[in-house]
Amino acid sequence: MRRVVLCRMFDLLEQTYGIDVNREEFVGERVSLHEIDALLAFKSDPHLDDLRGALERIDDGSFGVCIGCKTEIDQRLLDEEPARRMCERCEKEYNRSSSVYMEAHLIH
Ligand SMILES: [Zn+2]
Repeated sequence: MRRVVLCRMFDLLEQTYGIDVNREEFVGERVSLHEIDALLAFKSDPHLDDLRGALERIDDGSFGVCIGCKTEIDQRLLDEEPARRMCERCEKEYNRSSSVYMEAHLIH
């Protein structure tokens, strides 16, 4: 999974910032978060941050666990978006409650 997340990051770096990453060097080995940070220096990109967060969670073993209900997130969803932190059910609940919040506090 680490490899998948790294590839996403590199795609993003290449497409968004035109940075050509030597993937061979990174993907085969266990890249430290420190090296990733060096690569991401000065780029404040929320998606990159999310992906970096995913790498962190892979390292500390909390990757793929929903922050809402603590159950494992469907692998299919993680393949789609490795930075995902909630299962489908919690995400729906979250979106629903945040839109209720918006309506209550912002619109009126
Ligand atoms: Zn959940």
